[in-house]
Amino acid sequence: MNILLMGLPGAGKGTQSEMISTDYSLVHIATGDIFREAIKNETELGLLAKSYTDNGNLVPDDVTNSLVKERLAQNDVSENGFMLDGYPRTLNQAEALDKNLNDLNETLDAVIYIDVDKEVLKDRLSGRFICRNCGATYHKLYNPPKVEDTCDTCGSHDFYQREDDKPEKVSHRIELQMDSIRPILEHYQDAGILHQINGEDSIESVYRNIRGILGE
Ligand code: ADP
Ligand code: ADP
Ligand code: ZN
Repeated sequence: MNILLMGLPGAGKGTQSEMISTDYSLVHIATGDIFREAIKNETELGLLAKSYTDNGNLVPDDVTNSLVKERLAQNDVSENGFMLDGYPRTLNQAEALDKNLNDLNETLDAVIYIDVDKEVLKDRLSGRFICRNCGATYHKLYNPPKVEDTCDTCGSHDFYQREDDKPEKVSHRIELQMDSIRPILEHYQDAGILHQINGEDSIESVYRNIRGILGE
């Protein structure tokens, strides 16, 4: 099974993909995570991506497209299927993905769009914090760790807030992506594989809906 998880910043892609990964053996490919890792390691890709991600802008399509193309060509993807998270984010990326999948003889089974209002997104991003050790995502009000200051997944006490989640960066990021996401949704609607779900429900209820789409 090959799926896309789409949604504006803060919609819950990371949170839901953690849960999906536990129950389905899909290869999780999150372009945002790949860029953050490259920036941390100061690789060539990281140095290039940093100026864009720091300002909440999208990394250029040619860079992002070739990165995903390389990742999709690896063996684990054809063996287990994939879950793309945060890609495509432009129509150009969606078209490049169609072509790559066609070349690899793969098809997309479902596109899940997690729909959340802009004001709710801002509120979520301002309270988001992340485990530095394992990447698990929390929210100070809506999804705190079970034991204070301790990661549920790995037990670490080391958390951070993303630079691009600071309030002054958030609105720009959401608005930019609102504009570019619309034609992509139409593209998959036309292909008959788009599933739109209400992302303002609880984390558990959003996940139940996703399971309903993916099957048990
Ligand atoms: P969020 O979790 O807020 O939705 P991500 O972690 O997916 O954001 O992405 C963080 C940043 O990485 C984006 O603001 C953008 O700069 C870059 N990025 C991620 N995915 C893409 C993509 N498909 N195309 C271009 N840039 C991307
Ligand atoms: P994305 O990867 O789409 O940017 P995240 O999964 O990181 O989004 O979620 C953004 C923030 O909102 C996190 O702090 C997360 O704990 C919280 N969150 C995710 N889903 C929900 C939900 N259904 N209700 C309330 N808060 C949520
Ligand atoms: Zn952790």
